[in-house]
Amino acid sequence: MPGYSEPGSGSDLASLQTRAVRDGDDFVINGQKIWTSGAHNADWMFMLARTDPDAPKHRGITYFLVDMNSPGITVRPLINMAGGHQFNEVFFEDVRVPARNVVGEINRGWYIGTTTPDFERSSIGNAVGQRQTLEYYLRYWKEHRGSRRRRARARRSRRSSRTGGSRPRRRRCSATG
Ligand SMILES: Cc1cc2nc3c(=O)[nH]c(=O)nc-3n(C[C@H](O)[C@H](O)[C@H](O)COP(=O)(O)OP(=O)(O)OC[C@H]3O[C@@H](n4cnc5c(N)ncnc54)[C@H](O)[C@@H]3O)c2cc1C
Repeated sequence: MPGYSEPGSGSDLASLQTRAVRDGDDFVINGQKIWTSGAHNADWMFMLARTDPDAPKHRGITYFLVDMNSPGITVRPLINMAGGHQFNEVFFEDVRVPARNVVGEINRGWYIGTTTPDFERSSIGNAVGQRQTLEYYLRYWKEHRGSRRRRARARRSRRSSRTGGSRPRRRRCSATG
C-alpha cells in the first residue's frame, strides 16, 4: 500500500516532509501520511520520505519498504461519509527501517515513486484480488463437497423413508382448477 500523500503534500507530492535519517544500518523515520488506503490491513507499505532536506525537493527523497508491524507506527482510521473505512492516517515516531529496505538509490526515490503507480493504475491489484477470491472458493468447494454429498444423501434417504422408497408425486393442477 502506498505511503505517499501527506497533509499539505497531495498534488504537490514532492513537497513531502516525512523525514528519514540514517543511523548505522537503519533509517529512523518521523512524520505522517494520509489517505493511506488499506493501511489497517497491510503488512507492508512502500513509502517516500525525505532524506536530504537541503536538496531540490524532487531530489532529496528516498523510497522505502516499511514493515507495518515496526514499533512506532500508528494507524488511525478515516471514516468516510457513508461510514466506510478505506483510508487511514499513518503516524511514524522514530520508526527504524533497515537500510536494506531502500529501493533504488538514496535521494533518487522520486523516480521510483512515480513509476510504481503505473502498476497500480494498470489495475493489476484487481486481477490479483479476483484470482485470490477464485482460489478461496475452489478451496471452499473442495473442502465442503464431501459434506454436501453427505447432506444430499441424508436428504434422499429421509425422503425415501417418508415416501416408502418412491419420490413424492407432484400434484397436477389444471388451468380450470
Ligand atoms: C480513492 C483514493 C485512494 C487514495 N489512496 C492513497 C494511498 O493509498 N496512498 C496515498 O499516499 N495517497 C492516496 N490517495 C491520496 C491521493 O493521492 C491524493 O488525494 C492526491 O494526490 C491529491 O492530493 P490532495 O487530496 O491533498 O488534494 P490537493 O493537492 O489539496 O488538491 C485539491 C484540489 O486542488 C487542485 N490543485 C492542486 N494544486 C493545484 C495547482 N497547482 N494548480 C491548480 N489546481 C491545483 C487539485 O487538482 C484538486 O482539485 C488516495 C486518493 C483517493 C481519491
